[in-house]
Amino acid sequence: MQYEAVIGLEIHAQLLTESKMFCGCPIKFGAEPNTQTCPVCIGMPGVLPVMNKKAIEYVIKTGLAVNCKIAPYSRFARKNYFYPDLPKGYQISQYELPLCEGGGIGITVNGSTRKIGLTRIHLEEDAGKNIHEGAGNHSFVDLNRAGTPLMEIVSEPDIRSPQEAAEFVKKLRAIVRYIGVCDGNMEQGSLRCDANVSVRPIGQKEFGTKTEIKNMNSFRFVEKALEYEIKRQIKVLNEGGRIIQETRLWDSGKGITESMRSKEEAHDYRYFPDPDLVPVEVDDAWIEQITAQLVELPDARRQRFITQYSLPEQDADLLTSERSTAEWFEQAVKSGGDPKAVSNWMMGEFMRLLNEEGKQIDESALKPKQLVDMLALIDKGTISGKIAKTVFEEMYKTGKEAEAVVKEKGLVQISDTAGIEAVIGEILDKNPNEVERFRAGDEKLMGFFVGQIMKAMKGKANPAIVNEILKKKLGS
Ligand code: ADP
Ligand code: ZN
Ligand code: MG
Repeated sequence: MQYEAVIGLEIHAQLLTESKMFCGCPIKFGAEPNTQTCPVCIGMPGVLPVMNKKAIEYVIKTGLAVNCKIAPYSRFARKNYFYPDLPKGYQISQYELPLCEGGGIGITVNGSTRKIGLTRIHLEEDAGKNIHEGAGNHSFVDLNRAGTPLMEIVSEPDIRSPQEAAEFVKKLRAIVRYIGVCDGNMEQGSLRCDANVSVRPIGQKEFGTKTEIKNMNSFRFVEKALEYEIKRQIKVLNEGGRIIQETRLWDSGKGITESMRSKEEAHDYRYFPDPDLVPVEVDDAWIEQITAQLVELPDARRQRFITQYSLPEQDADLLTSERSTAEWFEQAVKSGGDPKAVSNWMMGEFMRLLNEEGKQIDESALKPKQLVDMLALIDKGTISGKIAKTVFEEMYKTGKEAEAVVKEKGLVQISDTAGIEAVIGEILDKNPNEVERFRAGDEKLMGFFVGQIMKAMKGKANPAIVNEILKKKLGS
């Protein structure tokens, strides 16, 4: 039997507001436990929540970016359950009337683009954190995170492979980062992804029973966990078993998913409208105001990069995956850089050096103009493309200008024909056997000669002139 996978994702994104969802406590990652709290977010009796308008704006902004319908009227509900990190005994969330519905995101896998529909985006509050490490046979509760605004984005079951699922998360992450509503940090948990997955025989309309997978804190783990879970489900079915609807935890160490608890149903939560909060009304004027703040999104920018700068798709993909990278590129082009040359240096040396240090482009001191100046030195023939790598690395590390680096390190390219000719003469004299073999037809030796000459001239000889003289002398 051939099976296909059906996947729907639920993504939680912590919003980048200054304060919490229903109180004025600041949001700070890594603060001393229980220092960012007040009677509201630790659930004291008799206190009342007050909505954070910015958080609502951020959800609307996200909804607009992915073409959702923004609800003119929505409401908060209480989702009741007991857990030590939830001091009120209920989470304020949205249930039957979410802020956004519909919309979708286009994803491209192996060259083909598909639209993944969105069911809804709603706003809720995050819970605190239970800490089990370093507590002996006790556990601690840290409520700093309790009450942080959390946006939940639910996809339709439109995703058909682990690769598509990872691509969807990547795309969504790029969007929320572009519009500045979430930092998208999966390791620190500001973007978390739960995956619902089932399998069905190819050709069957009805969905199979799904499981929900949690605890995947990177794109790679989303893909790996789903690959594992799909195989597991197919094996169970092929052995005549049934899939149990349950929540499973991804264990990245073991590379498997393990049963955590049986699936709870909506009625288990006894949802009801929160009587402490007024309904949220969004009028057209507010939507217009938020629309005006929207920036160009990754897809549109990618398309524009291809047409406006004649870049290959691969370049456009990489350069637009982060807003700061796209901005850096456009500044370089504005200062006179050739788009493809700028792109090559950014995707090559620049990314390599950034990756080595685990840095983002906006954390680097290197300015777009510095790269453009260096490209001009290559064009003028002052430095060779090879030497430019040394210059680039030095600029990157010290922040010095290209010209200064070239002067200080004596990297000016040697284009003096007589000088180069003399060195070539010496090399050929020293290697009579190779010269003979070359003349007998072993043309691969050209590389050997160029290598020897460049070594003798510390890489500074103008390669075009070297090639020209060498060919003449070897009589080829
Ligand atoms: P639940 O009742 O478990 O909350 P929902 O219908 O609300 O389920 O869907 C939650 C998520 O699971 C959504 O992302 C949805 O697309 C996805 N989903 C629903 N049914 C299936 C299925 N049979 N297989 C895979 N994913 C599914
Ligand atoms: Zn508080
Ligand atoms: Mg549901």
